[in-house]
Amino acid sequence: MRAHIIAVGNELLEGKTLDTNSHFLTGRLTDAGFRVVGVSVVGDHREAILEALRFAGQRAEYVFITGGLGPTSDDRTKEVLAEHVDRALVLDESVLDDIRALLARRGIRTIGEGNRSQALVLEGCRVIRNGIGTAPGLWIGHQGAVFVAMPGVPFEMQEMMDRQVIPAVQAEAALVPVVQRAVLTTGVPESSLAAMLRDWEAGLGKEGLRLAYLPTPGMVKLRISADGPDRQHDEKRIARQIAALQAIIPDNIFGYDDDTAGAVVGRALRGAGATLATAESCTGGNIARLITAEPGASDYYLGSIIAYANRVKTEALGVDAGLIETHGAVSEQVVVKMAEGVMAKLGADFAVATSGIAGPGGGTQEKPVGTTWIAAASKSRTVSKKFTFGERRHVNIQKSAVAALDMVRRLISEDGRASTPDRGGPR
Ligand code: ATP
Repeated sequence: MRAHIIAVGNELLEGKTLDTNSHFLTGRLTDAGFRVVGVSVVGDHREAILEALRFAGQRAEYVFITGGLGPTSDDRTKEVLAEHVDRALVLDESVLDDIRALLARRGIRTIGEGNRSQALVLEGCRVIRNGIGTAPGLWIGHQGAVFVAMPGVPFEMQEMMDRQVIPAVQAEAALVPVVQRAVLTTGVPESSLAAMLRDWEAGLGKEGLRLAYLPTPGMVKLRISADGPDRQHDEKRIARQIAALQAIIPDNIFGYDDDTAGAVVGRALRGAGATLATAESCTGGNIARLITAEPGASDYYLGSIIAYANRVKTEALGVDAGLIETHGAVSEQVVVKMAEGVMAKLGADFAVATSGIAGPGGGTQEKPVGTTWIAAASKSRTVSKKFTFGERRHVNIQKSAVAALDMVRRLISEDGRASTPDRGGPR
């Protein structure tokens, strides 16, 4: 079953608004079992919308449209769709009631012409009621294709899609949902990972499973998907392949599916009943941001000292000024003392510290932009590692933050293994 997406709005073509709706829709539709064959982004012009509707209707059985359903004169989607499917626009009383109720909740008692026009729907269409906004969605079949028009406001469209459109499509079309699992890896760049996994990947192909490498700074997500007729069988086949992958790269698997670096470390800390403190120089609080994005992080995260200036490294973290003088702020010696300093200062069980040259300036022959030292400390030891990332500042910061969390994860896991009593048994 093929799907085509049309995103309508001048702002999408002027670099003012990022077309996140298409991104959301491609993901949801693929998961539901569609093959998304195209995305058209068009302005609020009759001719452009009409052309996109014709094109999409010929290429796909389902066409999903977002934007241009609002109350203002530049919202053209509904009238152009009416023209394309050759239907009149008629007033729908239940939609008008929804709009009245919504406006009343916002303290508005009179309904203007613009909002009244939002209660106009295509004659004979299926109306998708909007519980959180004023523009209803519209569903209409025409010449072998179904057109589903939804509001442009991302959260309205997402709610409509998840609660109403996807279930309706699944009830109507024979879709085979894709079974997907993702494995998050760190510590190996995409190209090296692909080389390490060549045989495993070939095995996936033979089984009819698909693999996608999805890199983000500091991580590569491996997404395995199957769309066979038997969901349970697919789940088992994927689980077997993940077990095989665990044996090939045991130390580089960070998490699964929707895991984030912050969530994984949070889980590890919670499991160990331990606390964490951070001392951030080049990451400037980004490690703290990743950790505190998780609800309940206060159970295990104590806080951070953002030691950007050398004076803060010495005064707040107790790093010896002579050490900075001799080795430079971006050095193993300094980052180790930063981690140990913040651990003592905040009384944490684990700590991590970063010091690097994020760029674009500040690099030298010996320490080029991208050079980053990271140290992770526990009560029993401190480990440190040098990374050489790239030239781009924001990527270096993200990579450093993820690498720091990965080092904490490894340290917690290794310390946990070391403190587990040997239960004996055959060796
Ligand atoms: P409403 O009736 O609620 O105004 P609408 O269908 O008229 O909805 P638009 O006026 O096109 O929607 O857009 C409403 C908001 O949603 C705007 O802030 C717009 O920038 C944003 N938006 C529209 N299309 C997209 C898109 N494809 N991706 C992300 N944001 C979008």
